[in-house]
Amino acid sequence: MDHELFRQEAHKMVDWIADYYQNIEQYPVKAQCKPGWVYSRIPADPPLEPEEMDTVFSDFKDIIVPGMTHWQHPSFFAYFPANNSFPSILAEMLTSALGAQCMKWETSPAATELEEAVMQWLRKMTGLPERFEGVIQDSASTSTLCAILSARERFTQFGSNSNGLHATPVMRVYCSGEAHSSIEKAVKIAGIGKDNLVKIGMDEAFRMDPALLEQAIAGDIKLGYHPLCVVAALGTTGPTSVDPLPEIAAVCNKYNIWLHVDAAFSGSTLILPEFRWMIEGIEHVDSLVFNPHKWLFTNFDCSAYFVKDSETLINTFKLVPEYLKTQIPEHVNDYSNWGIQLGRRFRALKLWFVIRSFGIKGLQEKLRAQMAVAQELKTWVTEHPDFELMAPVLFNLVCFRFHPSDLNDEVSLDKLNELLLLKVNGSGSMYISHTRLNSKYTLRLQNGQTHVERQHVVKAWDKILEDAYAIYPSELSKL
Ligand SMILES: *Cc1c(COP(=O)(O)O)cnc(C)c1O
Repeated sequence: MDHELFRQEAHKMVDWIADYYQNIEQYPVKAQCKPGWVYSRIPADPPLEPEEMDTVFSDFKDIIVPGMTHWQHPSFFAYFPANNSFPSILAEMLTSALGAQCMKWETSPAATELEEAVMQWLRKMTGLPERFEGVIQDSASTSTLCAILSARERFTQFGSNSNGLHATPVMRVYCSGEAHSSIEKAVKIAGIGKDNLVKIGMDEAFRMDPALLEQAIAGDIKLGYHPLCVVAALGTTGPTSVDPLPEIAAVCNKYNIWLHVDAAFSGSTLILPEFRWMIEGIEHVDSLVFNPHKWLFTNFDCSAYFVKDSETLINTFKLVPEYLKTQIPEHVNDYSNWGIQLGRRFRALKLWFVIRSFGIKGLQEKLRAQMAVAQELKTWVTEHPDFELMAPVLFNLVCFRFHPSDLNDEVSLDKLNELLLLKVNGSGSMYISHTRLNSKYTLRLQNGQTHVERQHVVKAWDKILEDAYAIYPSELSKL
């Protein structure tokens, strides 16, 4: 492909992208293809001769697009969003054009310095103390792993990095029963062992109980274990509950335990002054992560990881083999030592584009508007005789279930709601997900897609009602 052909093809694809967004509501939100449908359409052997871009592009449209679930569809209400925005897409285009590998300052001065600058912006926007420094990781899972490894190294004074773990006492990590699975993954990878991840009980709103946390820690100390790290969640994945940070921070401070805050999804709301209550106690927090790629209109992947003490982080990861030695000036960061990967994408650019293009006010307005609609949905659920609200609505996520007033058997209710989820999602007009809360099958509708409007949620609620009464009571026998 030469320059001219690239120009032509690129124009065509930009037009396709613009059309895609303009007509996105004509696509089924959830891919309607059967497993194996895409695979069976890909030739078993790669082409020997070059193919025309036109052919490749038309296969993209005919094979790939029908095999995609459309995360940017405004009726994507499942999981948490991975929302993006036009400024972010533009920046991603430029990032791929530059094609830089941003491991060190010398290999990418602008990427390094922009990352430092936008992470300062984000720190200020979210009200984190001046002492905190930020680095962009690929995901919250990676950020949490960095936190647990840093906690381990601080405790062993970098001895486990040098000698392995054989001489280290059994370390314990604590989180609530609603905490994200990435914590268990991190504990496994860090050599702590998942049996040493202690799940702390919660109150009726799914918040970690700090008294139970302290009991568990005190009990572990008596048994000769070392309490290493507590992971507090601001916005759990199931019901977006918020653990009480001030009380948890006090416990961590008392026992000198690393406190990591997982705010992967809900951390975006820290740009709103009315949500800053969540980080009361932040002075005792060692690290915090939230994902602009979830709910700050920035393309996946972009995870903002903040640490109080960057030296511990750097000492945990720093390696400088001869071939990577550069004349790095003292006053610039070397982000390849701030995490696991050596090679790094230029992720700061899209964040810069997004923050400048929306402005803080624009971002704030969008979050507030989405949360206001979620409150409306909450009212529709609570006021409906045959629906039940399953958790408080703090942000933009509503957890609920279909609960016909004449049906009280939990097993049937679980099956009924599972059936409802299948029916609603099978239509292609919207996509929601589920969890279990207090072991009850619960439907989750998050209202955080970039282009979602009130009308989409109104339509979703109508659809849920319609499908609910289409399966109940007529399909009761199937339950
Ligand atoms: C989504 C989520 C994660 C994992 O995020 P990734 O960036 O996909 O690794 C972790 N914790 C919470 C609370 C989440 O909601």
